[in-house]
Amino acid sequence: MGEIISIINQKGGCGKTTTAVNLSSALAILGKKVLIVDIDPQANATTGFGVNKATLNSTIYSIISGEAKIEDTIQETMIPDLYIIPSNLALSGAEVELTSQIGYHTILKEAIDPIKNGFDYIFIDAPPSLGILTLNALVAGDSIIIPIQAEYYALEGMADLLKTMKLVENRLKSPCPIKGILLTLYDGRTRLGREVYQEIKNFFFPQEYIFKTIIPRNIRLAEAPSHGKPCIIYDKDCKGSKAYLKLAEELIKMEDEK
Ligand code: ADP
Ligand code: MG
Repeated sequence: MGEIISIINQKGGCGKTTTAVNLSSALAILGKKVLIVDIDPQANATTGFGVNKATLNSTIYSIISGEAKIEDTIQETMIPDLYIIPSNLALSGAEVELTSQIGYHTILKEAIDPIKNGFDYIFIDAPPSLGILTLNALVAGDSIIIPIQAEYYALEGMADLLKTMKLVENRLKSPCPIKGILLTLYDGRTRLGREVYQEIKNFFFPQEYIFKTIIPRNIRLAEAPSHGKPCIIYDKDCKGSKAYLKLAEELIKMEDEK
């Protein structure tokens, strides 16, 4: 049975896309069948896999606007058993168009649910806002991963996100349990990194919600997208790739313990 995991944080630059790309790649390398759904108009996950967003015929937008069947938008990546539904800038119009459709918050869920069981994991890479696309990701996801950058102001906006999650649960009757809080861009040498970690634990999420795996700040993770490759392909032995492989193992273990 497939599991849909949305990667959400309205803060930009906290590692959502890096996590979507490298966690899905790691899981595929470990033998899982994985789909990544890019719902950010900036399409960083799409280009991160070397897909040319300028020449795409069908994207996630084609599904939302009802022009394409979801099966026809799924593309292969350079990693066996890892697939992507790409995005491009056309999606930026969707926010406005969607609001005029009845039941606009469930459109993504309705599109993905029928193909859910064809995969072990489906990751939704959300945009950096709490708008309609992110709302769709909250409704579509069976659970969510919240990446948090270990930096000053990282927790600003966290209360808004938690409030939105509560509203989705209460008003739309669609619970969004937290799969895990993921500490990203972590530099253990700085006091700041450690302080943010403490603050997350003390004020927002008990320890059991926080992934044991912490993603370090690693230059190779930042370089890989410009080569159109997941870091795990670009440099499989770097600290960043190893961390995402460890996170994939942690996720698989969570399933096994269920
Ligand atoms: P988001 O999708 O949340 O906006 P990204 O994953 O695109 O965030 O990351 C923002 C920037 O930080 C990108 O340039 C990315 O390459 C870089 N980055 C993300 N995670 C790391 C990391 N662990 N170490 C170094 N650079 C990172
Ligand atoms: Mg992103």
